[in-house]
Amino acid sequence: MIDTHAHFNSKDLKNLRDEIIRVNNINHLNKVINIGLDYETSKEAIEISEREPKFYATIGIHPLHNGNIEDLLKLRITDKVVAIGEIGLDTDGDFLLQRERFIKQIELANFLELPIIIHSKNSNERVLKIFKYVYPLYGFVFHCFQPDIDIAKEIVKLGGYLSFATPITRVNAKKSLEVIKLTPIENILIELDYPYMSMNPINDGKQVFNRIKELKGYSHENLESQLDENAKRLFRKL
Ligand SMILES: [Zn+2]
Repeated sequence: MIDTHAHFNSKDLKNLRDEIIRVNNINHLNKVINIGLDYETSKEAIEISEREPKFYATIGIHPLHNGNIEDLLKLRITDKVVAIGEIGLDTDGDFLLQRERFIKQIELANFLELPIIIHSKNSNERVLKIFKYVYPLYGFVFHCFQPDIDIAKEIVKLGGYLSFATPITRVNAKKSLEVIKLTPIENILIELDYPYMSMNPINDGKQVFNRIKELKGYSHENLESQLDENAKRLFRKL
């Protein structure tokens, strides 16, 4: 299994080193993408990816974090940097600033020939509107997708991906489950967003996986290889 969205580079994690060793020992997790939130965490993600074979990195400035896009260009864009992210829009903070940074980072992704990982909090429609001006040419995924059937259909039409995390295992996840049922399996990714959405990558990973397995009626092996194939199609450097 590939975890497409984690933050083992987070400043919020006290025992970073222990956690990374723990993940390296989880046999069914064979690749993990550490996501940048700003310059420092992007740098840390790259450094971890250079030491640890299972770990990959993304670079980006999250809509609620500070930083200059120009600083990202100072980072080493190695073969293990698989995407620009997480970037996007949030309902908190300054919308105009977020939009400007989002556009600049989509342009950066296009320049580097990388896909983007989108953070969208109640902003799905606005994100798609921005795509009319600047389009992520190398693909995109809405991370921890906030369910909306029409938006999901639009994303699939554009060839984008929807990524699902632990919220789909909760009792009030009806809308997400509907979206998963309607979305072609080829457009689905899974993630744990550790440590923000999940503190237990072994158990939670299994639960998210099993929920999709039930909804899509796949065998364990077929679903695993399908999801891995999806991740590798979007993140070509995996
Ligand atoms: Zn995240």
